[in-house]
Order: sequence, then C-alpha cells, then structure tokens
Amino acid sequence: MASATTDENRKAVKRVAVVGAGVSGCAAAYKLKLHGLNVTVFEADGRVGGKLRSISQDGLVWDEGANTMTESEADVSSLIDELGLRDKQQFPISQHKRYIVRNGKPILIPSNPIALIRSSLLSTQSKFQILLEPFLWKKSKPSDSLESVGEFFQRHFGKEVVEYLIDPVIAGTSGGDPESLSMRHAFPELWDLERRFGSVISGAFLSMVSSKGGNKNPSGNSKRRRGSFSFLGGMQTLTDALCKDIGHHELNLHSKVLEMSYSCKDKAAGNWSIYCAPDKNKQFQHSFDAVIMTAPVGNVKEMKITKTGSPFLLNFLPDVSYMPVSVIISTFKKENVKQPLEGFGVLVPAKEQGNGLKTLGTLFSSMMFPDRASEDLYLYTTFVGGSRNKELAKVSRNELKQLVTSDLRQLLGVEGEPKFLTHYYWSKAFPLYGRDYGSVIEAIEKMEKELPGYFYAGNHKGGLSVGKAISSGCKAAESVIAYLESYSD
Ligand code: FAD
Repeated sequence: MASATTDENRKAVKRVAVVGAGVSGCAAAYKLKLHGLNVTVFEADGRVGGKLRSISQDGLVWDEGANTMTESEADVSSLIDELGLRDKQQFPISQHKRYIVRNGKPILIPSNPIALIRSSLLSTQSKFQILLEPFLWKKSKPSDSLESVGEFFQRHFGKEVVEYLIDPVIAGTSGGDPESLSMRHAFPELWDLERRFGSVISGAFLSMVSSKGGNKNPSGNSKRRRGSFSFLGGMQTLTDALCKDIGHHELNLHSKVLEMSYSCKDKAAGNWSIYCAPDKNKQFQHSFDAVIMTAPVGNVKEMKITKTGSPFLLNFLPDVSYMPVSVIISTFKKENVKQPLEGFGVLVPAKEQGNGLKTLGTLFSSMMFPDRASEDLYLYTTFVGGSRNKELAKVSRNELKQLVTSDLRQLLGVEGEPKFLTHYYWSKAFPLYGRDYGSVIEAIEKMEKELPGYFYAGNHKGGLSVGKAISSGCKAAESVIAYLESYSD
C-alpha cells in the first residue's frame, strides 16, 4: 500500500482545469482543491458567480440572477456547513405566502387542502380534480418520454390547473412554458413518481413519509431548515465563499476558453492544453490532467477541440434553445404602495396578459429580507420575457420601467414613479429543457465518453436550480478524483 506522503505527492502534481466560474464550476473547484488537487479556473467574464450576481449599492442589496435556493440536495447542506455559512443564511419572512394572479388580482396560493377548498384561485371542478387525483388516477397510463409538462399535468389535474398553477410557476422559475418543456427532463422526480405510484399526490406523500425514516440531513447539522433562503449580501456570498481559497494565479478571469486539445502523450498525465482569449495564442504553461467543463452547451459548441492531433468535431451537439429574461429592480416609497402584500412574491399566468399584465412575476425582496432596503422603501425584483415574451426582455430600460410600474400599480397599488430602477438583461437566462432534451444529454455523455479526462457539469445536466447545479459540480469533481486515482493505482 502506498504511504500517505507518496499519495500526497501524486495528488500535488495532478492538475485540473475548471471552465466557467458559475456556481457549478466554483463548487467543483472547491471540492477538487479540498482534495489537494491543483486547480485552475478559466472564466470568460470579469467576475465569479455566473447566474449568481448580487449588488450592494446606496444601502440597497439586490440579486440580478438567482434570488433564493433550497437545501434539497445533500451536497448543498454539506457545503454550507463546510464553508461556515450557516450564520449568513437568510430565510425569507412569511416565505409560504406566495401569490398567483387571477382576474387581474393576486390570490394567495393555497398551501393545504382546507385552504384549497376556500381559495378562489381555481374552480370547484379543479379543486375536486386535485383532491381526488389519488383515487381517480389510473396506474395504467404512464407518461411517454416525450410528453410535455402541460400534457402531463393536464392528464392529472385538468387544464385550469395547468393555466393557473403550472404555467406561472414554470415561467417564474425557468422562463419556459408548459407546452415546450419536457416532463421527463424538467421534473424527473415527478415523472418517476407517476411511473412508480400512478398518482402524483399519493406518490409525493408516500415518498415524503418514507424519507422521514431516512437520514434527511447527511451533513448531520441540526440547523438545516426547509424552504428557500439566501445569504447576507445576496446569493453571490455563496460563490465568493467557494472561491475564497482559490488564489489569483489559479483564477483566470476574462479568460474565455476558445480551444482545447487532448494529446495522449503519457498515459498518466498532462494531456489537456487550454487556449483562451484575449490572447488566442496563449497556451497555459502547465498542461492539465483533467477538465471540468461548466460553460453552457451553446458556448461549448463554439469551442475548437482537438484530440490526438485531429479535430474532434462537436457537430453532434444539438442546438439548445435559451430563454431571455430581464430582471428589473425597483424601489418605491412605502407610503406610495397602497396594497403591499406580505410574503415571497406574485406570479402572473400567461392568460392574465389579457388583463394587461406583461411581467412574469415579482419578488417582494425587501418584504422577504428587510435589510435589503431602508425602512421607508419597498424593494421589488420583477422578471420580464421568457418564452412567453422573448422580445419584451430586450426592450430599453425606460420601456421596462413603464411596464413594471404599470403591473405593480395594478397588483400592489403603487403610485407615481419608482424612486430607483435598474435592470439586467440575460440573453440566455435558462436553457430550455425541451421535448427533445434527451439528445442534449446523449451528446454530453458522448463528449465525456470520447474525450478522456473530460467531465461536464452545470445547469444543462440534471436541473436548473442552484442546488442541482452545485450537485452536478460536486459529482463531476468526484468523477475527476476517481479518474485520476484510477491512473495512480
Ligand atoms: P452559469 O452560472 O451559467 O455559469 C457558467 C459560467 O461559464 C459563466 O460564468 C460563464 O461566463 C462561463 N463561461 C461560458 N463560456 C465560457 C468559456 N468559453 N470560457 C470560460 N468561461 C465560460 N435558480 C434557483 O435555484 N433559484 C432561483 O431563484 C433562480 N433564479 C434565477 C433567476 C435568473 C434571472 C437566472 C438567469 C437564473 C436563475 N436560477 C435560479 C437558475 C440558476 O441560477 C442557474 O441555473 C445556476 O446558477 C447555473 O449555474 P452554472 O454554474 O450551471 O452556470
């Protein structure tokens, strides 16, 4: 058996490149470094965080990308504990109060069967369809693998539930729409529940009961709480903490990877070279033993890859559709908001465009986290665009200001102009997990299979949420470690 020192020496010479410093790349880099590997991160942008982007300015704190996350993934709990971030976790006030618009007015989303019966969000027929789904559902009709999210939920709960619950939630969390999204890829857990139990509601209940018996918190920390949360200073606190120990010489910002080459010089090491902008001819002095790629598939497609001297053509990578979204941050004097709502936020179904509403939804950011604005202000975060209104995401700040103010006037009774307004445009906010997304997953697997020491992670694989992206980064790091150890043996 090799001695500890010999093992350490072997690890020390192993070099891994991580492409992309979004949350998946940061999580992967953190795990690799923790394992004692030599890590170099390449990031096209001038900052770390990717879709986690927090700004503090003039007493306001806001997020222009992801606003909250959950601890559904075990890797998230472990990372928060390891990074000492428990004290910085911020849980929103009244987070279970969430609203959906019907007939131009926000209505509280019912959170239990009694509230559902009393709610005016759905008709009596839909309420019965939900409550009776466990009894009426026929086990004999499982979803086919190309079924859309809309078709799936319509089979279980009816059209109105799709229009007034599923559509706004999908638009608010992924910019997509129920008809374009693949059930299998967008909601793999629910898709699987149907296959196992038939009824989605019974399946969810039974898996919840059975998971209660298991270890819910693998990190063993009793402070874990359910629900969404952010951090003091916003979501970017997490990526900043993940990259804290990655030195300046290991973190290359403004370094868009354009070319990569794999040459099988030596079975054990140093086979990957990376070329990046701004100096296209610059080859990093050290070669790498493995690469974790976390750039969006659309960006990977633009890269030139060479394998043992021959071009490795990426023409098998399918085109991915991306949803554009603008995030608009506004503040209003409290005295100018006549019907402020306590809670998390409000979502707008596509059907409510008929009532003049153009936004996808608004988060009540300073209601959730009062330290994000001064006491006399409400801070709101509004989303515009998505598959419903791609063109609208691109309009000028002034036009966005008009339409956000108009929607907030109708929904919350704001009066006058916002005291402050800014916005951030994401041309590719979310990859669309469309009906044919299986071909994207297959292509990612092909790259990983045919390129030795190349691993892919991020929100194009396994889920869009911050938690899933973290989990994907951690899994890729584990695969790299196993791959490198297989050479050392
Ligand atoms: P990214 O964050 O996209 O990181 C990829 C990185 O790769 C980027 O930094 C990019 O600059 C870099 N890169 C690209 N090409 C190259 C190249 N050639 N060379 C080097 N670097 C390159 N999720 C939630 O769970 N909760 C939310 O509330 C939530 N809200 C969201 C709101 C918005 C507006 C958006 C856009 C997303 C939201 N999400 C939310 C989704 C979540 O934020 C993302 O899915 C997740 O952060 C993606 O992380 P990632 O590391 O996979 O990718």
